[in-house]
Amino acid sequence: MTEDCIFCKIVAGLAPCFEIARDDRALAFMDINPASPGHVLVVSTEHAADLHGLSPEGLAAAALMARRVAGAIQTVLAPDGINLIQANGPGAAQSVAHFHIHVLPRTMGDRLPINWLLSPGDRTAIGALAERLKAAL
Ligand code: 5GP
Ligand code: ZN
Repeated sequence: MTEDCIFCKIVAGLAPCFEIARDDRALAFMDINPASPGHVLVVSTEHAADLHGLSPEGLAAAALMARRVAGAIQTVLAPDGINLIQANGPGAAQSVAHFHIHVLPRTMGDRLPINWLLSPGDRTAIGALAERLKAAL
């Protein structure tokens, strides 16, 4: 755990999140600034700033969990598509320096840019979606 890292705090239960799934090496929870409804983050439980520093086991666990979450999103929301997006470094618009994969439901023609602007979502709606996704895992 790195003390000033928000995702380490979430993994440790020291900061709140709408949790979807957890195992020893990966945690999935709702993004609090969703780029689209159902936007989920999968983070490694181990602190690594990005892809370069992450263990092979952490990477495998996060990838497998992202696929599981994508399946639940497909079942619950039936989006037109799903992107997995993973940023490394400021030039890639990474804003939290702890490895994570965005699982991002897409709607045909939504024209979501790869570097979307962060704006807070409705927490009640996010929490309700979290419950539906959890139930579909
Ligand atoms: P990045 O910009 O690094 O690719 O993505 C970081 C993501 O973390 C952003 O989508 C942002 O909304 C999300 N995020 C930042 N702080 C928090 C937080 O405290 N809780 C949750 N659930 N998401 C967060
Ligand atoms: Zn961390």
